[in-house]
Amino acid sequence: MQSTSGYFQLGELRVARVEESCQAAFPPEVMFPDLSVEALQRQLGWLAPNYYDPQAGLLVASIHSWVVRTRHHTILIDTCGGNDKERPAFPALHQLDLPWLDRLAAVGVAPEQVDFVMCTHLHLDHVGWNTRLRDGRWVPTFPNAKYLFSRDEYDSWNGMPVGSRAVNDGVIEDSVLPVIEAGQSQFVENGYTLDDMLTVEATPGHTAGHVMIRGNGGAGVTGLFTGDIMHNPVQVPYPDINSGFCQDPAQARAVRRRVLNEAAEHNHLLLPAHFGPPHVGRVRRDGEAFAFIPG
Ligand SMILES: [Zn+2]
Repeated sequence: MQSTSGYFQLGELRVARVEESCQAAFPPEVMFPDLSVEALQRQLGWLAPNYYDPQAGLLVASIHSWVVRTRHHTILIDTCGGNDKERPAFPALHQLDLPWLDRLAAVGVAPEQVDFVMCTHLHLDHVGWNTRLRDGRWVPTFPNAKYLFSRDEYDSWNGMPVGSRAVNDGVIEDSVLPVIEAGQSQFVENGYTLDDMLTVEATPGHTAGHVMIRGNGGAGVTGLFTGDIMHNPVQVPYPDINSGFCQDPAQARAVRRRVLNEAAEHNHLLLPAHFGPPHVGRVRRDGEAFAFIPG
């Protein structure tokens, strides 16, 4: 789907994926504690090998950003784990040294050219490149960007004492507060729209203030940047299966079903944050659940 330029068209929007990592990483029972071995086995015919590695017995997880270009602006949706971050509670993202900025440059975007950064939520794998280490200090990676944060999301993390945020401990301090202190943040509410083409929509459940970004390409072409509403396509046939990282299980299920229903009804493209290749897809109704159509 991605051309040699790295971009594909979503109506009038140009979209590119910038990868930080993609590997067989998660034991299914860790990612989806409620997914039985039998239920997983029933789907292996299409999950392997892009979404599940049967040799390793691990789910494939990509961590990537989406670059979206409107007529006027260059926007980054989610910023992966970032380099040099102290994440002892989550070794896969601890002290990374990965060429994510080079991959951003490969799709023609220098840090100075990013106009807006949008984070679907403030988990460690969605805010890392918000900042980088310069002379021992965390500074915004994108010096000319406005960073749009969900107000509800920020308030919920801000209300939790340091030391009580499990794998997200230290994340607000090194990847969000330096942006606010630099005067580059803007808090947004449900319905906030950028360039008439990207709309922030409240989709709480995975986290308290999680949002998805609706990309309106015009002429009925819509893409949904769904963040962590789903982590792996196995949740399409099993929409009630939450990740072990979802904060409000009932709300996460309800939101997932609502988004899948809409995507199936209108043939929207899903652009999640962690699906393995080809990283995007559509869905159709299949009885009480849904079927995934990659690409
Ligand atoms: Zn995530």
